Amino acid sequence: MAALDIQFLQGSVFLPQLGLWLDAHRRQTGAERVLVSHAHSDHIGRHREVILTPGTARLMGKRLGGQRQEHCQEYLQPVEYQGTNGPFRVTLLPAGHILGSAMAWIEAEGQTLLYTGDFKLRPGLTAEPCQPRRADILITETTFGRPKYRLPPAAQVLGELVRFCQETLARGETALLLAYSLGKSQELIQALGSVPLPIVVHETVFRLAQVYAELGQALPAHTRLEGDNYLGKVLICPPQALPPQLKPPATGQGVRRAVATGWAMDASCRYRFGVEAAFPLSDHADFQELLEFVRLVSPKEVLTLHGFAADFAQTLRNQGYAARALGVSGEQLELGPAILGSLE
Ligand SMILES: [Zn+2]
Repeated sequence: MAALDIQFLQGSVFLPQLGLWLDAHRRQTGAERVLVSHAHSDHIGRHREVILTPGTARLMGKRLGGQRQEHCQEYLQPVEYQGTNGPFRVTLLPAGHILGSAMAWIEAEGQTLLYTGDFKLRPGLTAEPCQPRRADILITETTFGRPKYRLPPAAQVLGELVRFCQETLARGETALLLAYSLGKSQELIQALGSVPLPIVVHETVFRLAQVYAELGQALPAHTRLEGDNYLGKVLICPPQALPPQLKPPATGQGVRRAVATGWAMDASCRYRFGVEAAFPLSDHADFQELLEFVRLVSPKEVLTLHGFAADFAQTLRNQGYAARALGVSGEQLELGPAILGSLE
């Protein structure tokens, strides 16, 4: 039986014996299929043929439009496909990252492989709880793969965020929360709307929240941003979509700004985003969760991807795992400009 060949091409993982890409960054229009783990913009594309959950299909359709051949798989239901070398099976497991997010558990060439996409073990408010599974080979994201990235308990952070909003509104001012449009924003609507606090959201957040409701994840009351209807309320908006009157450095004017991102674990976060407060809420596993996840999967081999991939592979080797980073070249960015648009 041939070993499973794992290649790193065009910034993505490719399994040539299966004719399968895992979250291909480049558009794939050839004979190969693409596993799409979730609907964040760096994981979706206008590919010819995709494997994904029904939730990801709906969210991706809303974001990209267009048509493609879709294999919609429910969680935990194995489906067989024909690869280049013969049949293989894919089972999608909840990743706990955003609604519809999936890890792929693949049986091929006599081996099992678990690919995480993005994931977190902590239970969220709007995502299906993560369900790890043992596998021979693990390909895991390592966004927060350095020991300094330890998230405080989410309940504590949300409590502080609620206080920030309540104090702001009590002064008759607006609380502007910068957050990624898909996943993080819906978590904020769920947490703050159930206090309850009056919430206004940017159009992109509103449209994706509608899909959440259609998928059975209804959210507390919130209003679409129109004109100045946000004044004196909580406004949730992606930083790149800010209306001109709310773009930095236009501060004052009764607006207090905050950002909700895992990068708030970096001391420079407030300065980088030009905000008064930064709340460490993340849809990704922190360092301790990454370690716990590897322990749960108990793999013979680990391949690390994204973020601090080289550091985390070294940490795993120090613990006796066979681990290596995929596609790492030189130093990794910490809180760089590249993350400004991706506040997962
Ligand atoms: Zn993601």
